[in-house]
Parts: sequence; C-alpha cells; structure tokens
Amino acid sequence: DLAHYRLQVRVDRGGHLDVTAEVTFIPLQPHLRVIRFALFPKLRVERAWDAQKTPLPFLQVDEEEGNALAVIFPEPLPVGVPRTVFLRYGGRGAVRPSGPGNYILVPEARSTWYPNNWQMTFGDRATFEIIFAIPKDHMIVATGQPRERVPETSRWTSEWPITVAGFNVGLFQTRQRSEDGIVLEVYTNPTEPDEIRRVQLLAEQLERQGIRLELPMGSLTTSGLAENMLVEALNAVRIFTRYFGPNPYGRIALSQQPAAFFGQSWPMLVYLPYTAFLDGTQRRALGLPVRFSEFTDIVGAHEVAHQWWGHIVSWKTYRDQWMSEGFSDFSAALYLQFAFHADPQRRLKRFLDFWKNQRELITRKALLGVNRTSLEPYRVGPLILGARLNTGRTTGAYERLAYAKGAFVLHMLRMMLRDPRAPLGEGDDRFIALMREFTRTYAHRAASTRDFQRLVEKHMTPEMDLEGNGRMEWFFRQWVYGTALPHYVLHYWLRPTPDGRYRLWLKIAQSRVPDDFRMLVPVYLDYGEGKLVRLGMATVQGNSSVETEVTLATPPERVLLNALEDVLCTKEEKATK
Ligand SMILES: [Zn+2]
Repeated sequence: DLAHYRLQVRVDRGGHLDVTAEVTFIPLQPHLRVIRFALFPKLRVERAWDAQKTPLPFLQVDEEEGNALAVIFPEPLPVGVPRTVFLRYGGRGAVRPSGPGNYILVPEARSTWYPNNWQMTFGDRATFEIIFAIPKDHMIVATGQPRERVPETSRWTSEWPITVAGFNVGLFQTRQRSEDGIVLEVYTNPTEPDEIRRVQLLAEQLERQGIRLELPMGSLTTSGLAENMLVEALNAVRIFTRYFGPNPYGRIALSQQPAAFFGQSWPMLVYLPYTAFLDGTQRRALGLPVRFSEFTDIVGAHEVAHQWWGHIVSWKTYRDQWMSEGFSDFSAALYLQFAFHADPQRRLKRFLDFWKNQRELITRKALLGVNRTSLEPYRVGPLILGARLNTGRTTGAYERLAYAKGAFVLHMLRMMLRDPRAPLGEGDDRFIALMREFTRTYAHRAASTRDFQRLVEKHMTPEMDLEGNGRMEWFFRQWVYGTALPHYVLHYWLRPTPDGRYRLWLKIAQSRVPDDFRMLVPVYLDYGEGKLVRLGMATVQGNSSVETEVTLATPPERVLLNALEDVLCTKEEKATK
C-alpha cells in the first residue's frame, strides 16, 4: 500500500526528466524484503537509499524488458509499519517535445513516471507533494493544489489520497474562472503542435503554387476557443455538481495536449486533445471527418465527469470499471441535455441522438478482433467481465460495452426513477439523491457494482420492485451480469367514443430474451411540438405480451415506446385503425 510521495522533478527543454522521489509505503504482507515498483523503462534509477541515508541495493530490468523495479531491504519489513525509500532517477522519453512549446507526457508513462504500485498503477491512493523546476517562460500544471507558484518552480500538494498523479508542461496561456468553491482553469498552447504545423506547411506550399485555399489555414490555433472550453467546462461542472454532489477537490485544470484523438482525466488535471479546442471549420481544414464531432462534442464533458467517476469514487476491481467509463459517458449525455445548445428542441434532439448512437454501438454488427469478424458487441459478454471482454477474437468489444452499455445502465435507472409528471429535464429528485449518496458514501474510496446496487435498492420506487423482494437483483442480473437485449413490438389503435373522448388500446410484445427476463417498458403519448407525456410503464416478463385499454380526453398524434430511449432495446411501433 503506497501512502505518500514527495517528488522533486526537473524538466528541461529537451524533455529530460530528473527526479528525486521519497516514497512512503506500508507493507501489508509479512516477510517482505523486496519491494517492487513499476517505473517507466526509459527512466533509469541511479541510486536508492533509506531514511537513515543507507544505500539500498536495487534491480531495474533492461529498458526493453518492461517497467519492473525492485528495492531490496536488509531485513524483512514489519507489517503495517510505514517505511520510506528514496530514489534518484531520470531520462528522456517520458516527456516528449512535440513542437515549439508543446510537450507530451507520453500515455505509456502517465502513471509510471514515478515509482508506482506494480500490481495497480491506477487506484492505489496516496497523497502527493510534487516540486517542479521547469525551463524559463514555461508553465506547469499538475494534479493537486498549486502552492508557492513562481516562475520556474512550483509545489503541488494533494490533501486527499488520489488515484494517480501527473502533470502537463508547455508554453501555455491560461484562463481562469471560479464559481461555488471550484476553480476552473484552461491551459492552451498558443504555438501549434507539430501535427497542425505540418498541415499548415502543406497549405502554404499549395498557396505558393497559386492554389488559393478557402479554409482559414493561417489561424489554426487553439487559444481562440479556450474561452469556449472554459464555458463548456463550467456548464459541465454545474450540471455534475447538481446531479452528483460537490467536487471536494475544488479545482479542475483543462490542459491541451499535442494528440488529436485522445483525452484523459487525472485528479484535478484533464488532458484534452487539441482538436477539442478547434471549431468545426478548423477541424474540416485538418481533414477530420464530420462524424468526428461525435467525439469532440462530448470529450470535454466526459473527461470532466471522470473527476467524479474514477477519481472521487474509484472502482474496486476490473469487474467494476464499467462504472467509471459508463457513468462518464452518461454524464456527457446530461451535458448534452442541459447545455449543448440554447434551443431546447436542438438540445433534446442531440440528447436523443446520443442514445441512438450508443444503441447502435451496442447492437450493430461491428468488426471485432484481429481477424475482424462481424459480431454484435452486446453478444460478446456481460459488462462485469470488464477488459476480459477483449480477447483475440473480440478486441474492441470492451470499449464499446463499457462506455455505451455502461452509460445505458445508468440512463435506464434514471428513467425508471424519474417522476413522470414532471416536464422533460425535471423530475430527477430520486435519481439525484441516489447519485449524491453514492459519491458521498464512497468519496476518496473505491466502490463495487454491488455497492452501487445496494444504494439503488435504497432509492428504488415500489414500481421497480419487479421481484417483490425490495431488491434490484433482476435489473443488475440482466443488464450488468447478463447479455440479453430485448426486442419490443407495440401495436395500438385509437378510436373516438360516443361521449366525445378517445379509447386507446395497446399491446406490447417482448421477445429475444430468456424466460425470466423482466422489464418496465414506458409508453408515451406524443402530442407534437415536443410535448411528450408518459402514460405509464408496462411490466413484461419473458417472451410474452401485455395489453391494456385506456380512455383519453385528447388524442395524441402518436403513441411511442421508449420515447426517451428509456430501455436499451430494438423496437417497432405499429398503429392500426
Ligand atoms: Zn473515459
């Protein structure tokens, strides 16, 4: 168990890293003499010593052989007694220069640039004090709270034990905004990363050859949209604070990294791809496909959400990791619902399109595995298998399911907990109470799927008690531990009655499921112009159907199943005379 780090880090312009690390750990097993760590292989250890300044022998495998490092103590360490080891190491390759003033802490080194738990490079929570020395004019942003921040040196401390530590360095411009006890910062590079620079050089060549380009190639910089990013993050934080509770870290820094397709969230520090800071015209100029906006629309909100899902609450084992990615993608959908656009109709459409896309990712045949065989991802296995869903035959399945199906699990719970009488976008009181209790109970700790299930059971409605035992076992068994995906067919007719009202008959058939599969299936009346009323939820079990008749005062334009993508399913709706 790693408890505390004190790291003194020097970064130079060439990306060379020089570190003195003081690592305090608590031996949990008896007879331990050899303490193992994971350290990025390009960082080589020079010396190791103990608190009495006695040199300690160490072994570090060759660079090509991986990240294993072991420090050897002269006698077995007593269980439960904190010990400190000092290490001096350094090298090039963990931080890579990527254009003027741009650097990247390479993804492979993100959690092993310091000596980390070799069995778990993410999630062995520890407190950190990190002191940086950086080149003149450069800025650094790191996990933790900044203290004594002066040019060329700064000190960062974390009050809470955090899952992982990191930093981003560069010739940054910053913007800041604070609200409700949380400080938001954006760090952008005013100089282009090499990747953008290459496109510009090509454009300049073409222009010299007399080919005029209509695209704004000269202004491909990211600082212009820094303000947008700040507003986007501010909105995301407001929404997540309301739904999930306050963020105890009190700060989030969003920093640009010279990578186009890759975002990552460390505690208090988000790494965003530079493409997230470009507008649509600029993205087209770079040749990025239009559907790429699917990614850039939500990458900021998704990464901000990881502050709650992954950091404030982390996951216990690989079986629970779906909650981190799934809940973050769900959170991005909340962002789309409330903040994507000023026009409520466009927001609602974007929100529903998001869920349709997720459903496609889960149900459409996709090319998976090294042999690229065509398979529906949901058939590969249940969420609870985590990264083990990816085998040689099914690589890519885990990513689709953890994000998309994981998000759907939470969306289905939200829809069942929702007060159907409330207008769209309201009525989430029960869901909010559940999520806030979840983050409050497991703040700065790891939670499991079962831990979450127990809290859902505390907040469930009587209608959700499909097995009559006050438990949500049925739901988790089907959607987290199971692979079924129901198909629904709705038949209905609507006829005027002699007393001037309307008779609605409807029948819902459920199929393609095991016999004990049950679900609450909502029926909506669509009155047009976005006016959608939930008539009720039908309980259907196994491959069977239910039917009902009701009298309505005014006739809807249409009757719909799952109008808010309430249930992950495929469906058909048929009106008859
Ligand atoms: Zn993620």
